[in-house]
Amino acid sequence: MKPNEIDLHKELKKYFGFNQFKGLQEQVVNSIIYGNNSFVIMPTGGGKSLCYQLPALVQEGTAIVVSPLIALMKNQVDAIRGLSSEAGIAHVLNSSLTKTEINQVKSDITSGLTKLLYVAPESLTKEEYIQFLKGVKLSFVAIDEAHCISEWGHDFRPEYRNLRNIIKQLGDIPIIGLTATATPKVQEDILKNLDMPNANTFKASFNRANLYYEVKPKTKNIESDIIRFIKQHKGKSGVIYCLSRKKVEEIAHLLQVNGISAVPYHAGLDAKTRARHQDMFLMEDVDVVVATIAFGMGIDKPDVRFVIHHDIPKSLESYYQETGRAGRDGGEGHCLAYYSYKDIEKLEKFMAGKPIAEQEIGYALLQEVVAYAETSMSRRKYLLHYFGEEFDSETGDGADMDDNVRNPKKKVEAKNQVELLLKVVKETREQFKTKEIILALVGKVNAVIKAHKIDAQPLFSKGSSFDERFWMALLRQVLVAGYIRKDIETYGIVKLTDKGHDFIDNPESFMMSEDHEYSEAEDENIVA
Ligand code: ADP
Repeated sequence: MKPNEIDLHKELKKYFGFNQFKGLQEQVVNSIIYGNNSFVIMPTGGGKSLCYQLPALVQEGTAIVVSPLIALMKNQVDAIRGLSSEAGIAHVLNSSLTKTEINQVKSDITSGLTKLLYVAPESLTKEEYIQFLKGVKLSFVAIDEAHCISEWGHDFRPEYRNLRNIIKQLGDIPIIGLTATATPKVQEDILKNLDMPNANTFKASFNRANLYYEVKPKTKNIESDIIRFIKQHKGKSGVIYCLSRKKVEEIAHLLQVNGISAVPYHAGLDAKTRARHQDMFLMEDVDVVVATIAFGMGIDKPDVRFVIHHDIPKSLESYYQETGRAGRDGGEGHCLAYYSYKDIEKLEKFMAGKPIAEQEIGYALLQEVVAYAETSMSRRKYLLHYFGEEFDSETGDGADMDDNVRNPKKKVEAKNQVELLLKVVKETREQFKTKEIILALVGKVNAVIKAHKIDAQPLFSKGSSFDERFWMALLRQVLVAGYIRKDIETYGIVKLTDKGHDFIDNPESFMMSEDHEYSEAEDENIVA
């Protein structure tokens, strides 16, 4: 069938039973069936799978779906098979198959029966498979979790870097990349690596208006605090994320002895126990799962009412992904994170010993987590700004859904201070990161300041009547307001934007609020 002869709504109903497309799905499906390279950025739960499954089902040939997780691929294949009477409609191709199974897969593809072929990136490098796929009719290649291509994503996988070369060998077929990671840098990396600068790009908003964001200082009372929170949400489903397996076990046990139905979940448990605990949660035999990040990939429980971060995650992408598991049905979703700077230091320690570039990236990502946790501005605005999206914190959807907006700190006029800050960035020729700019403002020296003789500059220490915390808070707010930006290529060197230059020429009112003071929070409960 030609693309214009396909009745997409009919096919949607036929295969998936849905009456309408969700969000940008229809545009994406059209883009693919017309043979365009396409790039889809949608938050988790946005309905990405259908974007390639439907075109695959209605087109001639086999679509290759590259996905990093074998378990997820199996789920998807089972789901697709459920839509059809032919088991051969979808297959997974991987090294665990027997010779007979591989032959079956090949014959189903050759006969035109198979519409979706799921492969892990490493399987796609196998010469035998490449040779075979070269000789069959392929409709397109979908690359799921495309952020794995980028070192700036939260799950970099080197195998993903080879995909473009392999696909080229398979012929001139359209590519569709899909991801739920929206930072501008990751998007740029994906388009560059897949060599599709002109791909049709579809980006859904990342605003989850029904989620309530809250950050609390992590004190020694954290455990009783969590128990109280859960008891207030009695009978509701929730997930508690911890950094270590040991902590997962401890908290799960603590909840159990306090009469809360909870199970642990982490990669140290055997597969059977993990599956059982996951099922118990999905079937509502338990209310709470206490988990490491091993839990959640592909979890589609619509009515998770709260996600608690016992430990702050290593990036805002992870935070967004993990909190995103709350309220998928559009109902209540309370996201509570406990924060202590000590946890950041702990995460920094994990990075020691890694290659320098990786450390720099890890450190830059962590700084964003700190900024998010300590800020007193709209958390939603901060998060969405991080994902390259502007959000109006007064009128936007869900504008009042965070602790900072509900309990605002007093705002003060900071016009003069903004001017000074921007001038310091300019005077130091836009060559330094946050840390040096702040030190220059308050008049402190470190090795970098000395080496570059910043302490001999006229504006050095002109901001010393305010402390470093004040300047840090102001800098973050000036960043989100768009007067400065952080250059990603250099791991965070601060640059002036046009708007920043204009401000220096014509300073205007700037109302700022000071950050939260979390540093006094003591945590005696962290167990490495
Ligand atoms: P993502 O991969 O973006 O996280 P999924 O593809 O898993 O999202 O889809 C999320 C949920 O939305 C699934 O339960 C799916 O069945 C549902 N869904 C997808 N498209 C539609 C639609 N057009 N109408 C109703 N529900 C949909």
